[in-house]
Amino acid sequence: MGKQRENQIIYADPETCLGCHSCELSCAVAHGAGDLQGAVAGGQLLRPRNKVVLTGGICMPMQCRQCEDAPCAFACPTGAVVQEDGQVRIREKNCVGCKLCVMVCPFGAVSVAAEDKPDGRFRTNRGVAKKCDLCADWRARSGRTSPACVEACPTRSLRLVDMEAYRRALREARAAELALSHKHLSLRKVNP
Ligand code: SF4
Ligand code: SF4
Repeated sequence: MGKQRENQIIYADPETCLGCHSCELSCAVAHGAGDLQGAVAGGQLLRPRNKVVLTGGICMPMQCRQCEDAPCAFACPTGAVVQEDGQVRIREKNCVGCKLCVMVCPFGAVSVAAEDKPDGRFRTNRGVAKKCDLCADWRARSGRTSPACVEACPTRSLRLVDMEAYRRALREARAAELALSHKHLSLRKVNP
């Protein structure tokens, strides 16, 4: 059996985010008609799974953190939320739209919305839980390697991050700083 890896996440940098909402638009399109013109022509509601939050003068793009110990997975009474393929996935066919996952998510990253207009043909409004799926289906369909929001961001404020690669980069940066500071210290000064 292969080594269990941590889930990937979307890393957002508030330092460079312009608050332009391109990530939200691209997310909605990737999970809808697939192109903006088609969505507008088809009268589709645009429903992004991410949200750019303006707080204290800072723009912070928010979406599911793909928790390892996901509260939404524990709360779901029908087992519709599972850890699968390096992310927290919602199996929509098992979801009854009870919103327990919405209530326990610490990041407000899950929503449940009606998908069909109740016109008498349906017993329910068929709402199911939706959240960031790292564009897994869209990437598989389109052959893209990055999620739609990452591709759309004009300042590259969003990145799909593998945590081991992230740790490696962090270690290398700190190691370079330490090595430089040690260069200026003689052993005699440290231990007279
Ligand atoms: S939806 Fe919320 S609780 Fe569930 S994995 Fe994502 S961030 Fe965690
Ligand atoms: S990774 Fe995909 S699903 Fe997640 S916020 Fe970005 S565009 Fe939406």
